[in-house]
Amino acid sequence: MTAPHVIVVGGGLAGLQAGLACADAGARVTLFESRPRLGGATWSTQQQGLAIDNGQHVFLRCCTAYRGFLARLGVEDRVHLQSRLAVPVVAPGGARHWIRRAPLPAPHHLGPSLLRFGHLSFAERLRAGTAALGLRRVDLGDPASDARSFGEWLSRAGQSDRAIERFWDLLVRATLNLSAREASLVLAAKVFQTGLLEQADAADIGWARVPLDDVHAHPAEAALRARGARVARRAAVTALDLDDPVRPAVRVDGERVECDALVLATPHDAAAELLPDAAGVDRDGLRALGASPIVNLHVVFDRPVLDQPFLAAVDSPLQWMFDRSEAACLERGQYLAVSLSGAERWVGRSRADLQAVFLPAFHAVLPASREARIEQFFLTVERAATFRQVPGSAALRPGVRTASPRLFLAGAWTDTGWPATMEGACRSGLLAAREALLAAGRSGTPGRLAA
Ligand SMILES: Cc1cc2nc3c(=O)[nH]c(=O)nc-3n(C[C@H](O)[C@H](O)[C@H](O)COP(=O)(O)OP(=O)(O)OC[C@H]3O[C@@H](n4cnc5c(N)ncnc54)[C@H](O)[C@@H]3O)c2cc1C
Repeated sequence: MTAPHVIVVGGGLAGLQAGLACADAGARVTLFESRPRLGGATWSTQQQGLAIDNGQHVFLRCCTAYRGFLARLGVEDRVHLQSRLAVPVVAPGGARHWIRRAPLPAPHHLGPSLLRFGHLSFAERLRAGTAALGLRRVDLGDPASDARSFGEWLSRAGQSDRAIERFWDLLVRATLNLSAREASLVLAAKVFQTGLLEQADAADIGWARVPLDDVHAHPAEAALRARGARVARRAAVTALDLDDPVRPAVRVDGERVECDALVLATPHDAAAELLPDAAGVDRDGLRALGASPIVNLHVVFDRPVLDQPFLAAVDSPLQWMFDRSEAACLERGQYLAVSLSGAERWVGRSRADLQAVFLPAFHAVLPASREARIEQFFLTVERAATFRQVPGSAALRPGVRTASPRLFLAGAWTDTGWPATMEGACRSGLLAAREALLAAGRSGTPGRLAA
């Protein structure tokens, strides 16, 4: 029997995962990526002598599909995963309190640190704990939950504005790329249920110790090629042809390429342009998913100013900052990446403008920065880092299958139940690979996909 031919369109994590899972199962894979590089929304570059990423990326221990992808690529030693969740949270003036995992079963493991979380009053801490437990009862499959905002739910659960800003926003902005007030209740509840309430070790935080290209793009391309896959970069697919339902085809560089199964793993807006009527996907719904930006500030100080691998800040425009000196191979001083999620207010502002806003913010939370000199300050702006994970978005996310029997969708925007994350992308890639292999007559159980 000849190996089925699977085409994957898009070389982000979803496409790479889908392609690799199909190739591992014995399919002949062709992957088309429009850009000169793979990795999609995760990429690295050289800037002013530093190896930088387009934005700080973190994952959690509960991201089993993403971690399975890293294991498949043999790059687990290129990331660091905390042995036990510990997040220092600082306020202007330097007061620092921790969110830490205690050696207790879930959901009690966060109780002790929440009770000591001095950025909230004691009454606010108790109410936050009660609300967190209440999130276990949110039905993630209920359309009524999809219609509600997390902010409205929090207010009803007795959370003050201060508690929302100083506690809930800290976690929600970083995971849903929107403020808690704007975010979808369903997705926020998913983050808390899976990340914080069900398993004590689920929220241990991981991050890359090397540039992201060396974790994703380069090893994935090598692994695909080792399986005989064709990886075509600078190859934009301009049309999908579903006229023959069992021989779908793509048009790329003026050429028509046929296959036995097709995985479309572009961002949702590109998918909306490519999908023909025969796919039966609501293209207006895809467009309505919208976009939410992430801005990263890259700041090199002439000396160390941050004494932790990362730090979160409250009552400050600084949200989360990470020491990237090692990953960037910085020899002197300290390089911080400051990740600003839900960053609409910062998009379009000049570098000088942001430096003027953020310099005093550094001084307020990192006393050592007051004596330090800034040697480099630049920005990376991702205007469409994720879709807007607002109320109603769950209903707009299509599943992996389409009306065309050999066309499947993958991408962090598809309906995995997870937020738009690296985990969501890898899950969608595995799901699409499974369906593509089945449709093409080659079953397999690619990768690891826990609930
Ligand atoms: C700055 C930033 C910070 C982030 N931080 C985190 C984080 O901390 N943790 C986390 O889990 N997630 C984070 N995310 C989100 C995460 O990176 C994405 O959800 C995930 O990588 C998306 O993967 P994807 O494969 O679904 O899509 P993409 O990565 O967008 O890949 C789609 C690919 O399709 C290609 N393509 C488009 N059109 C065509 C075409 N016509 N033909 C061929 N190819 C095409 C694109 O060029 C792209 O490479 C962050 C994202 C950004 C931008």
